[in-house]
Amino acid sequence: MKIFENISLKKYNSFQLKVKAKKLIEIESAEDLKLINSEVYEDNYLVLGEGTNTLFCGDYLGTILVNKILDETIHEDLNFYYVSFGAGVNWDYAVRFCLSKGIKGLENLALIPGVCGAAPIQNIGAYGIEFKDFCECVDYFDVEEQKLQRIYKSDCEFGYRDSIFKRSLKNAIITKVHLKIPKEWKPSINYNGLNTLGNNVTANEIYTKVVEIRKLKLPNYHVLGNGGSFFKNPVITRKRLANLQSLNVNIPFYDVDEFYVKFLQRG
Ligand SMILES: Cc1cc2nc3c(=O)[nH]c(=O)nc-3n(C[C@H](O)[C@H](O)[C@H](O)COP(=O)(O)OP(=O)(O)OC[C@H]3O[C@@H](n4cnc5c(N)ncnc54)[C@H](O)[C@@H]3O)c2cc1C
Repeated sequence: MKIFENISLKKYNSFQLKVKAKKLIEIESAEDLKLINSEVYEDNYLVLGEGTNTLFCGDYLGTILVNKILDETIHEDLNFYYVSFGAGVNWDYAVRFCLSKGIKGLENLALIPGVCGAAPIQNIGAYGIEFKDFCECVDYFDVEEQKLQRIYKSDCEFGYRDSIFKRSLKNAIITKVHLKIPKEWKPSINYNGLNTLGNNVTANEIYTKVVEIRKLKLPNYHVLGNGGSFFKNPVITRKRLANLQSLNVNIPFYDVDEFYVKFLQRG
């Protein structure tokens, strides 16, 4: 682990705010979390990935734990690839890593900023796909028990930009995510912007298209600090949608399940 004192957080947050932290520790392995002085956990601390979903309102007076756990493993059986990433691995790198190995499925989640360890927290999603669609389980450090634990997808309470890590496990420090990706692949191109791609499209072409659209919609936060779009699309019942449509209101929407749809931003 690397320890810094009285350090600028400018490069640790996507708004590039020039705030400071009293102490910052870069965590390089899950074992580091056990070795940290217990005073850190008893005092104020904040876990950070790439700081693209974090807005500092001033200097941070406690300790920032930056997740730099970087590793990746792949194995497979007849029907699935099992890919694991350390919590500090950049998410877009993980998507490209899978594509480079011929593992298809994550391409709609191209270019979402941040690290793999932050992905389960709000169940990141874009273009009709969410983290939960490929999550097998998540490893985390239980601060109270001071030990590593594993939680399976069925217990993660994943929802629309939501998970157990925002509630009863909000003190968990995620160390690794394990993905289970079916070998049988079907493009997911129903979403606005992708629906002009033909059914013969490849996963790499979807990746490229998503990157192209995303670059048009939002400035690069490395150049112009920003926090992306942080509004949740409203989710309504199909009955309500039918009522609105009967008023001749043209609303772009996306199917959530048999009961609900999600309104989409126009354009
Ligand atoms: C330009 C832009 C576009 C975006 N587009 C999308 C999008 O399309 N879809 C989407 O879902 N999100 C999007 N986001 C939001 C952002 O990409 C996600 O929330 C991402 O998961 C944040 O990752 P991070 O590493 O930057 O998290 P950080 O900002 O570092 O942390 C976010 C939260 O997670 C906690 N945290 C981070 N790592 C860990 C860990 N290992 N263990 C426990 N807690 C941890 C932090 O304490 C904090 O509360 C966008 C953001 C930006 C700036």
